[in-house]
Amino acid sequence: MRYLWLLLTCIGSPLAAQTAAPHSRAAETITENDVMRRIGVIAADSMLGRGTPSLGLERTAEYVVSEFRRMGLRPGGEDGGYLQRFGVTRWTIDTSGSAVELTANGSRGTARVGADARYVLGTIPGRPVRGNVLLLASPDTSTAVIGPEVKDRIVLLLVDFSKPLSPALNQKIVDLAVAGPRAVVVLSNRDSATFALRLATAARPRLTRDEEPVTNEGAPVVEVHERALGPVLAAAGIDPVQLRTLGREYRRSIPGLTVELRLTRKIVNEGRVPNVAGILEGSDVRLRQEFVIYSAHIDHIGISPGQRDSVNNGADDNASGVAGLLELAEAFTQPGVRPKRSLLFLAPSGEEDGLLGSAHFTEHPTVPLQQVVANLNMDLVGRNWPDSVIAVGLEQSDLGATLERIAGAHPELRMTPIADRWPEERIFYRSDHYNFARKGVPILFFTSGTHSDYHQPSDEPRTIDGEKVARLVRLLFYVGAAVADQVARPRWTPDSYRQIVERR
Ligand SMILES: [Zn+2]
Repeated sequence: MRYLWLLLTCIGSPLAAQTAAPHSRAAETITENDVMRRIGVIAADSMLGRGTPSLGLERTAEYVVSEFRRMGLRPGGEDGGYLQRFGVTRWTIDTSGSAVELTANGSRGTARVGADARYVLGTIPGRPVRGNVLLLASPDTSTAVIGPEVKDRIVLLLVDFSKPLSPALNQKIVDLAVAGPRAVVVLSNRDSATFALRLATAARPRLTRDEEPVTNEGAPVVEVHERALGPVLAAAGIDPVQLRTLGREYRRSIPGLTVELRLTRKIVNEGRVPNVAGILEGSDVRLRQEFVIYSAHIDHIGISPGQRDSVNNGADDNASGVAGLLELAEAFTQPGVRPKRSLLFLAPSGEEDGLLGSAHFTEHPTVPLQQVVANLNMDLVGRNWPDSVIAVGLEQSDLGATLERIAGAHPELRMTPIADRWPEERIFYRSDHYNFARKGVPILFFTSGTHSDYHQPSDEPRTIDGEKVARLVRLLFYVGAAVADQVARPRWTPDSYRQIVERR
């Protein structure tokens, strides 16, 4: 009985409601002109690339706040305002105090971070880390078994970088880091040029949230080039070349060997950065307690000193999405289209540095997360094909069917949602919707994908197809209206729920 009722509600009324005149009139307020004007503001050189934290980011947040206020949205941040702030720190490894030191039978070898070693990931320990050594070698590290024996050890992990690496290797190392060792030291035989590139990448400052639960990050992982450690490895009875040709898994305690890892941080800058949130109250007394969240990140990657044009404007990434967010808020505040559920318009920051703003928002939601029925996220929506848009998450919930139905009902928009074209790029994990999905909120992520100007100073407003953005945002308007009006909440497909939310 109930199922049938849901089915009728889903397919029947919202479509009828949406084709009504007020909806098409509201959708028509979403125009190419408005989109391009907003992108011009957000991606202006004066916004300095909107790094997190930066003056340009603050200015962009102020612009979004002033627009939300003008449109009459209710503040959806903290302390009665539109902002939710969170502390961030940008830091690098202090190479002067960071090294891996091995001692065996009177022999000693030191790999200094920045020269022969690099920090990869994991908690930065406050003081030197020492422990008994477990040596792990495997013909294919990505399939190595991680057992309880790694607990409280320093794991020396022998990887053969002269062979093609499995894409699963990274995940294996993360799994190892969270399995309870004190540290993971990857013994590397990379060629010097590649290793130098890795050192350069590792030297770039990283941004973390001050309240990031460090315990989740696992043990520190460093990659150490074995060229620095030949004699001490020999003194410990370890022959890396021979172990790599062994052709079978090898795991052994090395009692004569001591490893000490020293890692310290150097702070580059810190600040309290803004997420911006505005709410349009729903029209239904009961359903207004529930929310559809539209999101688009306001930050970008800041400036790249040394280049002739040093400002990374981020017109596509993600001024295009923020322009869409503002156009949606404006459309929904037109007469006669207020949906039954409430809408929350969210502009997170720190996205480029690891989805930090949305991580903070979903850990400290300003409306109860169980009452958020869907997240519709936009990131890079202004380029590539004029007539289609990638909708990541189509297959994860019945939001996919809703989207396809709405797109079909609006042929005038000439916008076809398509599935993810590049699964190997893992874009599902690469924008803010991911933080909602892993907390159980069904999502759709709209993107037109990357291009040669991606994360370059040349990602400028003149490259944006504003006409396309307007049509796409109109589609998102109708989709959000349908989701916010239909009585039944969007539902996960069981498989996706298991994989993404329950992670099993
Ligand atoms: Zn980006």
